[in-house]
Amino acid sequence: MMPVKFSEKNLFRKDCPACLSKNVSHYATIPYRETFRKWDIYNDQDYLNFLGEVPSDLHFEVSTCNVCRLNFVNASYEGLVETVEGSSVYHQTIIAPWLDVTQKEMDISYAREIQKSRPQSPGEMRVVGQEWTNRLSQVYTIIAKYLEEGSKYLDLGSNIGGFAEFIRLNSPDTDITCCEINPFYVKKMKERYPHLNKIIDQPLTRENGEQEFDFIYCSHVIEHIWNIEEFILAIREHMAEGGNLMLLTPDGDCQGSRMLRENWWAYIVPHHCQIFNVDSLANLMGRYGFKHISSGRINEEFWSIFRKTSLTPETSGGLEHTLASLHQEAEQSFESGDYAGAEAAFANICSYEDVNYNAFYKLGISQFKQEKYEEAVDSFSTCLELGTCTVELCRLLAQSLEKTGDDETAEMFYEKAKELG
Ligand SMILES: [Zn+2]
Repeated sequence: MMPVKFSEKNLFRKDCPACLSKNVSHYATIPYRETFRKWDIYNDQDYLNFLGEVPSDLHFEVSTCNVCRLNFVNASYEGLVETVEGSSVYHQTIIAPWLDVTQKEMDISYAREIQKSRPQSPGEMRVVGQEWTNRLSQVYTIIAKYLEEGSKYLDLGSNIGGFAEFIRLNSPDTDITCCEINPFYVKKMKERYPHLNKIIDQPLTRENGEQEFDFIYCSHVIEHIWNIEEFILAIREHMAEGGNLMLLTPDGDCQGSRMLRENWWAYIVPHHCQIFNVDSLANLMGRYGFKHISSGRINEEFWSIFRKTSLTPETSGGLEHTLASLHQEAEQSFESGDYAGAEAAFANICSYEDVNYNAFYKLGISQFKQEKYEEAVDSFSTCLELGTCTVELCRLLAQSLEKTGDDETAEMFYEKAKELG
């Protein structure tokens, strides 16, 4: 099992994979050995056993995007993640103990326990099993609002099916499909939950299946995906118009992440190849025509609901690629200081994506730089309506308003900026 060549990294992502900005800087250098320590593998020999010959200084660089604050691994080796995660040692030593805690067999009585579970005291929360039960309860409360009789529901990355079974027990009228690519999990799912008989055992792609789901639940998958664009486009392809998507992922803004930085548990690189926060995820999804509906935090993770919106008809078919290149062109003009070019490109994007905060924000800056203050006020106001309010946004809006002569409203936003800062 040694197809990985460690001579040179051969997977690269130089620019931010979420917002495409080139404005990125170094965040951390993480030895691969540390990832194994995060998995509680302290013995050097055990580490070496995973991959045979491993260079002793094997490490990964994590970049941070100065625009959307995504942190991402910028270079890796083809096949490394698959080789490690496909090995039996990995399943025995890393996955099995974790499954014991998080994948208690789902049945009616456990389902009731989950439903009755309420937010707990910090003392109770320390018992991981209890914490997990409580988490499931919170997640289900959110999902239940979206499920109707006969809803077509997909659990993308369903693991061994415990949560899908929970949905089935609580909402028996839901039409449930599970997608899981790990054969070990699929086998276990079939043994444990024979009622979950709709299983897609290969990665969701744009081509496979014509199913359109009303709700897709995708928990702790997106931080593993190297080619994010391909992944999101596949999801889009499998969603009904107006359908909802719930993504859960580690929260790069949580206290643990801010305090421990690269030592935080979620930096198991390159297995987790990006760490999101609520904003960077919303920004990314906006680029693909997903409207951000709501978000919330549960301990050190967050969830976001996105609705698939229609993009204009003339752009359908190859739309995503057109949009992706448009984004690239816009970002390039912006970074190089060609604000007229950037304004045109971002205005174009905004006409397709009326929910993209980043595009309106940079459209505003491009207008501001060209002293088109009235237009800038409009763009920055749209940003506010999209629900994100930052110090920089308030300041820019205040300065633009001042230039247009609206001193009173400008003052209000200067105050707001002070409050936030
Ligand atoms: Zn970014």
